[in-house]
Amino acid sequence: MARIEMDLDMPEGLHLCGYERIEQGHAFEVDWPVDDTFTCQRCRRSEKTYVQYGDKIHVIRDLDVWGQPSFFVYQPPCHRCGSCNHRQWLIPPFKRKHVTYTYRFERWVLQMLIGSTEEEVARRLGISAEMVATIVAHQLQDEQHIAPGLQITDVGLDEISLKKGHKLYATILTDLTEPSRPRVLAVQAGKDQAAAEKCLDCLCEEQRRQVLTHRTDMSPAYLAACQIKLPNSQSVIDRFHVAKRLGEAADRVRKKDPGLQKDTVGGAAESVSVVSVGVSPSSGGVDGAGAKAVGRTLREAAGVGGGLLGTLGHHGGF
Ligand SMILES: [Zn+2]
Repeated sequence: MARIEMDLDMPEGLHLCGYERIEQGHAFEVDWPVDDTFTCQRCRRSEKTYVQYGDKIHVIRDLDVWGQPSFFVYQPPCHRCGSCNHRQWLIPPFKRKHVTYTYRFERWVLQMLIGSTEEEVARRLGISAEMVATIVAHQLQDEQHIAPGLQITDVGLDEISLKKGHKLYATILTDLTEPSRPRVLAVQAGKDQAAAEKCLDCLCEEQRRQVLTHRTDMSPAYLAACQIKLPNSQSVIDRFHVAKRLGEAADRVRKKDPGLQKDTVGGAAESVSVVSVGVSPSSGGVDGAGAKAVGRTLREAAGVGGGLLGTLGHHGGF
């Protein structure tokens, strides 16, 4: 056996307790500290959280690792209200309710849509075009928040479109300060000057003053918005800028500095133990967030006959 070490960028507060490679994918078993108090959604009473775990296991799509899909695997915690007895799930910090993928997977889908179509993105990620559309819709509904302390010197503005049955256009603001790690800052409906200005207004005034270059397509609407909102910024016309960079970033391996070691030298080995979802090569059926083989395997391995990945197929996950 060889040992490989990699740095994973985990969402804040999330604890990695296990890993297993499963066919063409990666399963990371995770948990996270729950809040001390919980407010009942039915009777609105707050009380000390009383956490229970059932026998369900949820499998949630996250960013790719080495070009292969990765998943967070966890037992969803729930709380039973001491007053009205209502049982309710505690939503993990890394995803929204009723979806089978992480927030950062959503952002990644947005990035991939730049210079691409929903079908291409869906195919590449092994998800449905409907899921791509749902992700964009959720992202558009969210309040756009950019940390005011973030230093941003270069931005990109791009339009994306959902053509198949949606006729939806959106404008995406991307941080290009670190060229190798572009990231979505904001998204707004529409592809006109107003949409671009709304995106730029998600930056605070100080941040807008610090922007030195903006890259957009030839759209006069975007250029006009930047002229108004970015007083110190110069336009860099580069039609394929973001699409190209984002494509590169998506293809790049997410690990930072893999150190291959032939022999295990004590200690560090404990950090990643084996997840309790085994490997099985045979098949199952339903799949939610891509990587069918992985889904089937996890379902079988969990041995809960639809409980585990049944939730995936039916829009589940809490
Ligand atoms: Zn209650």
